[in-house]
Amino acid sequence: MKRRVLVVEDNPLNSELLRDWLEMEGYEAVIASTLKAGFAALESKRPHAVLLDIQLGADDGLTLASWMREQPALCQIPVIAVTAQAMVSEQERIVNSGCKCIVSKPVDFKVLRQQLEFWLGQVGAEAGKRVASRE
Ligand code: MN
Repeated sequence: MKRRVLVVEDNPLNSELLRDWLEMEGYEAVIASTLKAGFAALESKRPHAVLLDIQLGADDGLTLASWMREQPALCQIPVIAVTAQAMVSEQERIVNSGCKCIVSKPVDFKVLRQQLEFWLGQVGAEAGKRVASRE
């Protein structure tokens, strides 16, 4: 089964680039171009991971990460921040919101591949542990 990655990104060039790359990597990509569309996509097509832009027009993408962390059904889904902002205070804000890591724009796809594989592997390992402990 293909793993689904939700991309929440308001810049169409960036989201197209990410979609093409994700599909080449064998993922199913779902694009949301607004914060609202991001929330809707979480409800309708639960992803295995989220790539989250922080500046979504007037909205703060971290609203989505903070909200996900409070949802028992969604809090295990890794959220990777994809942003050009690299100031330390902003990095802290991103990590405190529940994002697993930050991938800087312009995206280094080798780094993104490593992070996605790592965090998706973590989720699988956790699920495996839960299954194992039940047996
Ligand atoms: Mn943006």
